[in-house]
Amino acid sequence: MSKVRVRFAPSPTGGLHLGGVRTVLYNYLFAKQNGGDFIVRIEDTDQTRFVDGAEQYIFNCLKWCGLEPHESPFHKGPFGPYRQSERKEKGIYSQYAEQLVKNGHAYYAFDSKEDLEKMREDLKTAENPSPQYDHISRKKMKNSLTLTEGEVKDLLDKNTPYVIRIKMPENEVISFTDMIRGEISFETGLVDDKVLLKADGMPTYHLAVVVDDYLMKITHAFRGEEWLPSAPVHLLLWKYLGWQSDMPQWAHLPLILGPNGKLSKRDGAKYGFPVFAMNWTDPKTNELTEGFKEKGFLPEAFINLLAVLGWNDGTEQELYSMSELIEKFSMDRVHVAGAKFDFEKAKWFNHEWIKRFEVSGLRFDVKNQLAQNNIIVSDDSLLDKVIELVKDRCTLLPDFVQQSSFFFKAPEQLDVDAVKPKWNEEKKAFFIAYAEKLAAIGNWELLSLETAFKDLATEKNIKPGELQLPFRIMLVGGKFGPPVFGIAEILGKEETLERIEKALVIFGS
Ligand code: GLU
Repeated sequence: MSKVRVRFAPSPTGGLHLGGVRTVLYNYLFAKQNGGDFIVRIEDTDQTRFVDGAEQYIFNCLKWCGLEPHESPFHKGPFGPYRQSERKEKGIYSQYAEQLVKNGHAYYAFDSKEDLEKMREDLKTAENPSPQYDHISRKKMKNSLTLTEGEVKDLLDKNTPYVIRIKMPENEVISFTDMIRGEISFETGLVDDKVLLKADGMPTYHLAVVVDDYLMKITHAFRGEEWLPSAPVHLLLWKYLGWQSDMPQWAHLPLILGPNGKLSKRDGAKYGFPVFAMNWTDPKTNELTEGFKEKGFLPEAFINLLAVLGWNDGTEQELYSMSELIEKFSMDRVHVAGAKFDFEKAKWFNHEWIKRFEVSGLRFDVKNQLAQNNIIVSDDSLLDKVIELVKDRCTLLPDFVQQSSFFFKAPEQLDVDAVKPKWNEEKKAFFIAYAEKLAAIGNWELLSLETAFKDLATEKNIKPGELQLPFRIMLVGGKFGPPVFGIAEILGKEETLERIEKALVIFGS
């Protein structure tokens, strides 16, 4: 069998949707488990949809996810160029379109915009509200099937703009075997005569995808299920170009569903969760769409949650590392039905991954989060202790700020309102005595701090539970954070005593 070669073929039109990243992931896993190559090809033939910066952004996202291609515009390989606009410049596509015309499988169409509009108006009925350019309507249009050879030559000589369209057979059934869905058949008569080459000489997706998958020796092509209706056109092109035996095996991946049908960018804004891998700012509108990275997801968690959006290995397992995925992923266990994206579940994955991570693996991200909040950490060993103490309480990376900033900076404000209603002279006396005890303590460690606290509470006949909240507020400022004696242990004697002292003044009597 020839070497496995798969490709992700994005159009640089905007942010990278999580469905797109899942397509990359499945490609990547399949390539890795088969010792194959993973190629990224930029499909930028539709210049009207081209967006500045989108290509670089896609590669930044792939890098963050750890899904680096073997070949791409930035990872040179033997099958380049890897941008379709550059391939068009080299004249790669038009020769195949011409070959199809010559063989009678495609034709020149000279219809103007007005001609097309008129046809749509004339043929419009209640049952068929948007008539297509197909084996019926083409008979009435201005193309090389209806015009004489001389007329066509004349129009071409006069540089009349034209497109090349595929000539769909009137009445054939064609089929292929999808790796996920099994055998799928299409009636060619129901499919329109898609444009293959545009008037500006640019190929459309339909021609370019077939030509490039062939020339780049792609063995397996995985793409979103929205491309299934185009499959008959592509199947015929593989056949008409004489490449049928080299056609890749296809898998059409299920949709990712949001709260209402297909998950869209708008759902993200509406329900307050990210749909793009990383922050994306539309250069035309300056509109910022939040990404999973900036929301505080670890790439490992993001990859994990995407892998199981539409796939499982038949067991109850939900957490997978990349190497486990490479070992266990299989296309035939991808579901046919759409997979529902659930943001609460996505957060659960991140929480589990934060818990799983070694402290050293979180250091960089936590430092970054704190720095974004003007807390610069220079003592790594202190940072490590803090991460160890709080990581199980964090779901998203920004949670580390609330859970740990007070270790590095004394709280500026104390939630006095939470303490005041139950604050009294006895409690104040307790903390004065506790501070004295702490000052004298030799081994500053959690257990001694806790024992001293509890013993003193028993002595003073106050329930320790009633004292813990004021103690917490003294140290961290509010009703949050890890167990309070663990906090004091890390803060150290001097800082703990200072915070108690300051708080006692603020709480008053
Ligand atoms: N350029 C297409 C897209 O962005 C690629 C589809 C394919 O993988 O064939 O969806």
